Amino acid sequence: MRKENKLNSLETLLRKGQVFTDAATLITYELDAGLDRGAPEGLVFPQSAADVEQIVRWAAQQHIPLVARGAGTGLSGGAVAERGGIVIEFSRMNAVLDLDESGRSAILEPGVVNLAFDERVRAQDLYFPPDPASQRASTIGGNVAENSGGPHCFKYGVTSNYVTGLDVVLASGRSMRIGGRALDYPAYDLCGLLTGSEGTLAIITAVSVRLVRNPPAVKTMMAAFDSLEQAGAAVSAIIAAGLVPATMEMMDRNILRIVEAYVHAGLPVDAGAVLIIDVDGYPASLGPQIDEVIHHLQAHGGHDLRIAANAEERDKIWYARKSAAGALSRLAPSYYLVDITVPRSLLAETLAGVNSICDRYGLRAGHVFHAGDGNLHPLILIMDPSDRQLVEKVHHAGREMVELCIRKDGSISGEHGIGIEKRQYMSLMFSDDELAAMWDVKQVFDPGGLLNPGKIFPSSVDRVSTRGEPVGPDLSRPPPIYRPQEAYHIPAAVFTPSTASEAAQGLSALAAIRRPVRISGSIEASPLEGQPGENNDVLLCTGELKGIKVFSPADLYVTVGSGTSLTELQSFLASERVQVPLAAPWPSASIGGLVAANVNAPLRMRYGSLRDLVLCATVVLGDGRVIRAGRPVIKNVAGYDLVKVFVSSHGTLGLITDVTLKLTPLPRARRTLLAPLDDLEQGLVLAEQARTTALVASAILLCKDCDISALHAPAGNSFPVGARAPVAASVPVGARVVKSGGEGLYGRPLSVPVGEVLYGHPPGSYVLAYTAEGLPEDVQAELDQVRQVLRTAAVPAPMEVDQVSGTDIWARLLGNSPGRALQVRVGVPARDLASYIHAQSAALNDTAFIADIGSGLVYAVSEHREPTAAQHWLESLRRPALALGGYAVAIDMPGTWQDTIDRWGYQPAALDLMRGLKARWDPGDILNPGVFF
Ligand SMILES: Cc1cc2nc3c(=O)[nH]c(=O)nc-3n(C[C@H](O)[C@H](O)[C@H](O)COP(=O)(O)OP(=O)(O)OC[C@H]3O[C@@H](n4cnc5c(N)ncnc54)[C@H](O)[C@@H]3O)c2cc1C
Repeated sequence: MRKENKLNSLETLLRKGQVFTDAATLITYELDAGLDRGAPEGLVFPQSAADVEQIVRWAAQQHIPLVARGAGTGLSGGAVAERGGIVIEFSRMNAVLDLDESGRSAILEPGVVNLAFDERVRAQDLYFPPDPASQRASTIGGNVAENSGGPHCFKYGVTSNYVTGLDVVLASGRSMRIGGRALDYPAYDLCGLLTGSEGTLAIITAVSVRLVRNPPAVKTMMAAFDSLEQAGAAVSAIIAAGLVPATMEMMDRNILRIVEAYVHAGLPVDAGAVLIIDVDGYPASLGPQIDEVIHHLQAHGGHDLRIAANAEERDKIWYARKSAAGALSRLAPSYYLVDITVPRSLLAETLAGVNSICDRYGLRAGHVFHAGDGNLHPLILIMDPSDRQLVEKVHHAGREMVELCIRKDGSISGEHGIGIEKRQYMSLMFSDDELAAMWDVKQVFDPGGLLNPGKIFPSSVDRVSTRGEPVGPDLSRPPPIYRPQEAYHIPAAVFTPSTASEAAQGLSALAAIRRPVRISGSIEASPLEGQPGENNDVLLCTGELKGIKVFSPADLYVTVGSGTSLTELQSFLASERVQVPLAAPWPSASIGGLVAANVNAPLRMRYGSLRDLVLCATVVLGDGRVIRAGRPVIKNVAGYDLVKVFVSSHGTLGLITDVTLKLTPLPRARRTLLAPLDDLEQGLVLAEQARTTALVASAILLCKDCDISALHAPAGNSFPVGARAPVAASVPVGARVVKSGGEGLYGRPLSVPVGEVLYGHPPGSYVLAYTAEGLPEDVQAELDQVRQVLRTAAVPAPMEVDQVSGTDIWARLLGNSPGRALQVRVGVPARDLASYIHAQSAALNDTAFIADIGSGLVYAVSEHREPTAAQHWLESLRRPALALGGYAVAIDMPGTWQDTIDRWGYQPAALDLMRGLKARWDPGDILNPGVFF
């Protein structure tokens, strides 16, 4: 059938005015904001997810490629129909489907424009931080597909940190929801994998996002420096002091002059560089933050300091920063905007390298970059785009810049994606095995190559037959040395590799004979994973994959062997005044185990989830391939974000041998309010009210029958924020009891043994624990608000302590009885948490539990001593959670209960995709058998 006839059949499936095939309309869709071109054969405007499903089914039958498109502001050719086919344009799917103010989440269609959404949520005192400079035009669908970042990424992270769920249409035309509004679904994090996949794995029809509170106050300042090096040193000093400004943007002299001539913002055009810094928080903290930042700026040669006195002046400064691209367009008909990332401390030397490349090629360039996160954007002017020699020179220079950043262990793209522009550079950054692992993902989602074909992969991987069909990677090269070797010794019942290559040799030998392997951080396997030698299994212990490999405080990352315990890591980091904002209930828990099991403590509400903190990991796949996923930089959108699937994979896809984690400064203050409450209903209402104030909260917990004493916090979880005496305590909280007696919470007498606890917590009653951490002024301002909430409700005055945090209380509940009782984690959408707990109060009545109000999670410990009764109890919590789009999973239990307790009780919609991935990365099906499947 001819193409036009085929397209006619598409028109019959949709309404009039949704399909266009005329040349005049199509020509405007031949490019995005980058330099690549490609003519589509048709254009379609879906109005609903059902329309998208129809379109994809139709295209799959006709073998016509599909290219999703948001606003077309992409800079790497992602939305360009290079191999023809149909462009699906999402501007008519632009509704905010749901905005949950109190639960701080929203569901939006992909065509919603970023800035419009942010303005809408700000009106509700909420904030959606990902803010690409293109946010006036770019869409949420495009932002998710590119995993966009913006100036606020240093403090707030990138798009994937905010996406909790995606509604997608797969290449087969099947619709499915991946993730959702609850957190930590017991499944591979396919939502994280799809974010940044550039429309090559699925078409997004709705996005669930989490939101944060809009900072009540913000201040913008600008400082001039004589050189880029000085400005860079000032940024380093600010980071080293433990400050976390909301933005740190830099412009060099070339760009300053070009922009000033355009916007007339009074920029210091003779300066070598300018830094634009925003600080935010409660009004009380802005003065001290600014004073401290100014101190560091001046100490490193900063001058001509300008502090915006009002919103108008602030907008003027930012308008100048965001006008760089527009200003350049006046000078040259075209420009090439490079996008590379290096570890932040290498910025100055990388810039020098980039400048010398431009000089060598005789190119005129300027720099705009995100100084806080190491993301550089050299802008190279193209005075005559028809001058092929010049364009070629620009491309050669661009390639050299990419090579430079790879030598510095950076990424070939921090924000703009790979698309067409950088696909040939992928094999510079990734090994054959790494590219093949990404190609495996593509094959699982889109084996027919229907979705955005040709993007991301170099032609050596994405090979096309002469008839235009995908034929896959060229595997004719000899296999790497760690592939199964006949002579290789098959590991014994307990296998303790000390390097990734030793693990690779062992795993490939075990895969060859299909011997099951259980991975554990210690030689005593967890009750959930079975015992060593059981069923002929090999126990792979990560105990020898230990130690801190790289510690880079200037770049705020640490790389550790996966067998290192969190306790050991935290105590090392604390001596350096930084932390990995993670906690574990079990002092010996290994980093690899925590990552694989996706263990998130309540403090995630302040610092982000574990998936947001893992920058990079070395993994030995089940077939022995060793891959390095990610890079030690916070902005990296080169290829698929494989790191995400290993977090929460429970060791079923590969053995994690080392992990690079994002660091944050130790908080200068951390304080907890403990409010005793006799009534569950009241507790839920107050906790929800308190949640609306949360800006620097690191836990909002409603605890029942939990140990809230301050003296037993496991070392790995207590952050040394100073040992000040607590205020407002009617008993000496935090001090060892030297004389028994006195008054505790609830005004009841204290009778605790000498040398023990500080106050009691009567069984059956509740405590609202609210921890805030960060700058002292922010912490105080926030706790004052919470106190006001409590005062209005006329409940007894809370105690304020600094020795115990919400995370400590959580760790104690779960760490108390390892392997002795059934422990459960329930996840529901945050807005449904109160009604869920209310409805399940009978099941929760006899148990100790913690409701993590900030994250929509409940942790409960069963009192049942017999597995069948415990399973019934679990089911009674599970059914209503599933009905709300959540889940309930067992997180610990006695080893002998495994056959009775249904650990997962959750069937992800994407189970077949999970199986597909497992089959490709662990073809012998040897890793952690029985988990998930
Ligand atoms: C002046 C300027 C400044 C920029 N600044 C930044 C910046 O600061 N940070 C940054 O990260 N980027 C920046 N960009 C790049 C670009 O704006 C972002 O990548 C943006 O997210 C693209 O959004 P879009 O809606 O325009 O998507 P498009 O360009 O239309 O598409 C981008 C990709 O998303 C895919 N896609 C779109 N919608 C869907 C969908 N519904 N389902 C599946 N896939 C889909 C497309 O196939 C394509 O691969 C800038 C661009 C310009 C022109």
